[in-house]
Amino acid sequence: MSSSRTKAGKRSPNLDTVYSINPDGSRNFLQVAEVKGRWTTRRYIMFYALILVYLLAPWITIGGHPMILIDLPRRAAYLMGATFTNQDFHLFFFVLIGVGIGLFVATTLFGRIWCGFACPQTVFMEGVYRPLERFIEGRRIERMRRNKQGGAGKWVRKVIKHALFLFLSWNLAIAFMCYFIPTRELLHEVPFFKGNMTALVWSLFWTGLLYFDYSWFREQTCLIICPYGRLQSTLVDYDTIIIGYDEKRGEPRHKGVQEGGDCIDCRRCVDVCPTGIDIRNGLQMECIGCTNCIDACDDIMDKIGKPRGLIRFDSSRGFETGKSRLLRPRFFIYGALILAMAGLFVVRATHRDNFQVTVMRSRGLPFSFEGDKIRNLYTMHLQNKSSEHRVYFLSTEPGALSGKEGLEFIIPQPRIDLDPLADVPLTAFAEMPRKSYDLPEDFHFTVTDSASGEVQKIKVRFRGP
Ligand code: SF4
Ligand code: SF4
Repeated sequence: MSSSRTKAGKRSPNLDTVYSINPDGSRNFLQVAEVKGRWTTRRYIMFYALILVYLLAPWITIGGHPMILIDLPRRAAYLMGATFTNQDFHLFFFVLIGVGIGLFVATTLFGRIWCGFACPQTVFMEGVYRPLERFIEGRRIERMRRNKQGGAGKWVRKVIKHALFLFLSWNLAIAFMCYFIPTRELLHEVPFFKGNMTALVWSLFWTGLLYFDYSWFREQTCLIICPYGRLQSTLVDYDTIIIGYDEKRGEPRHKGVQEGGDCIDCRRCVDVCPTGIDIRNGLQMECIGCTNCIDACDDIMDKIGKPRGLIRFDSSRGFETGKSRLLRPRFFIYGALILAMAGLFVVRATHRDNFQVTVMRSRGLPFSFEGDKIRNLYTMHLQNKSSEHRVYFLSTEPGALSGKEGLEFIIPQPRIDLDPLADVPLTAFAEMPRKSYDLPEDFHFTVTDSASGEVQKIKVRFRGP
């Protein structure tokens, strides 16, 4: 492994090593410089809008239920007023595939725009934790100087910072749990969850994980853990809009404006990079598309009186030829797939039954003898999938097993009251004298929802010796 060094002997980013890891394997903790500019402003607007949605969504109710809630104990989920039970789980296949393809389209068109603008890792790191760190420990130069000097000034600030990070992580962990436990119930129970060990352990787990991630692990999550960064190289093509350095214009880089290309080798683009890379080395897997280097370099160009855009959003084709091509066949193919998935989800979700009846396999012999009669036992399972209390009626279809002399149906519980999302096993019997039986025969039970009048037929078979 090679490691390039600046003239001052400092290690600098290259394509062969990960800059945030030292050659001896220890961590090179990055001190990211602050940056201002039009892209940074846009990103902050996006970050705070997303954080607001994240914090408010569990408080908003639609149709008496939270806008988004995955209620694990009740095995149900609520989404924009619709109720889903475990029986509807297959629908989330369409959602997941749709989201996956959506990311493909976004990456194909605009590279890692998701990472730079909307990924929770970036949103909270750059929108909350890093600004707080700067507020307490000061700007990059100040932080580096204080870290080197040591002393009380450094440690007091570090203790305050980590205490606030822990408190923030705990709050974000509780906010996350509001997506799994109704918010108003949850907030009455924090911090000790009234002895609910599961909730307490989860809250501590998420707090610890967020604190570890945002206070120390940081860009390593993007570099080591997230698979999306590795995937991007298969999705990006010659026409994808990426953040890149205009080599034709910038090289040969030269300190000072009088000679060479437009790059004055000031290294501002490196200092502001949260993953510690040098964009001038070309597109790299570590680039999360954060736009810091664009704003940093534009600022330098303004100062030296050169046009902005030495580092900019453009395609590889654009950097080489000056021409870009945004809409390509794969965009339309991915777009059609997303629409198909969204359409399938909407159609399936809006045409679901409000209740579900399934026949359970009975244990042992399918029939028994009661004196000279053959008896069949049927076990069914009824679930109220609606969010309201419902009354159902279980009966047999008119004309079931007609013509069988001495036939009798026994339904111990013909009326069933069910709370929202509740389920219950049902039993029913059919009996007929041996002499009336010749061959197995199918018939139907019916379950009627008294509120909507919806009827579901359940096909079963009468069997005998
Ligand atoms: S900020 Fe711009 S001018 Fe400075 S080193 Fe980076 S590319 Fe060159
Ligand atoms: S190279 Fe530029 S866009 Fe990529 S992560 Fe670094 S600063 Fe952000």
